[in-house]
Amino acid sequence: MSANEAALVLQQLKQRIAEYDYHYYVLDAPLVDDNEYDGVYRELVQLEQQYPELVTADSPSQRVGGLASAAFESVQHRQAMLSLNNAFSEQELEAFDRRVREATDETVVEYAVEPKFDGLAITLTYEHGVFVQGATRGDGYTGENVTHNLKTIRAIPTRLTSAQPPALLEVRGEVLMLKKDFEKLNQQQAAAGGKLFANPRNAAAGSLRQLDSNITAKRPLHFFAYGLGASAGIPELKSHAEAMQYLADLRFPVSALRTVKAGAQGLRDYYAEIGAQRSSLPFDIDGVVYKVNDFDLQSTLGFVSRAPRWAIAHKFAAEEAITLIEDITVQV
Ligand code: NAD
Repeated sequence: MSANEAALVLQQLKQRIAEYDYHYYVLDAPLVDDNEYDGVYRELVQLEQQYPELVTADSPSQRVGGLASAAFESVQHRQAMLSLNNAFSEQELEAFDRRVREATDETVVEYAVEPKFDGLAITLTYEHGVFVQGATRGDGYTGENVTHNLKTIRAIPTRLTSAQPPALLEVRGEVLMLKKDFEKLNQQQAAAGGKLFANPRNAAAGSLRQLDSNITAKRPLHFFAYGLGASAGIPELKSHAEAMQYLADLRFPVSALRTVKAGAQGLRDYYAEIGAQRSSLPFDIDGVVYKVNDFDLQSTLGFVSRAPRWAIAHKFAAEEAITLIEDITVQV
């Protein structure tokens, strides 16, 4: 393919991804499933790797996918809410671990590992222990103010119980809907002739991004914290695992499946462990996330345009595909 042809194909891929992003992030009604989306995205990244001179600042590979809808008041994030790079194979996982070891001069790296919740990213701001604002990720820099809707989620504390609450605490996490609640909601929607949601992720996003909090209050949403944003006056925390324990002590819901693993072999083991439990978990996950545990090493690694260099999402194959294979097996 010539550079001119590649530029044309890239243009088409960008338009297609922009269309998919709008339906997924703004309308909460995806046009295609995640497998197909990921395939198109990878085609774009591979072509950009062959023709680096064709990478533009507006490319989906350079920016966080979401958008902040004008229907909500906008919120500027104090610290950017970035995305995660993906690994789809063992080779990509090993390449990630190698890059981390080379950049940090460590022989074996310790990783904090956790499920990749399939919901939507939000940030919660607490000032002197009081929940003052909550926002969606949006484009990573500007999100949507959904404070009133987040207040309807019982798992989110509106006030921290700590005797000495920090002056500022931003908690990053995922809002999601449990699989059983999603089934029930769609049954109710069908009975009432309302809109059906494609999956729990879209049901969670559609429910949180309501202009009327009374509707959100009727939707059973759950929340898991998975990190910190800006803060002031918190105790010294040296690692992601310590940060998660701090959040658990403050009574934020954190995943019981989180742990710490050493080196690429530890990551492979965790991927297999969680993969085996995936279908029996009460909520959807689309992979596992590996984060370099030590905060100093995270600082050494830093960020690329849209994601940290110290973390990666190791994706599972879409569950729809697995179900199909099982169906075929049963028929045979
Ligand atoms: P992503 O979902 O691949 O990864 C980043 C997000 O992971 C974070 O923003 C956070 O919300 C979430 N996350 C869940 N658990 C986490 C944890 N333990 N620690 C840290 N983060 C955690 O990236 P993205 O940019 O939000 O979305 C891209 C993906 O969304 C695509 O790969 C695709 O699967 C899907 N998508 C699908 C369509 C579609 O039309 N089907 C359109 C756009 C995006």
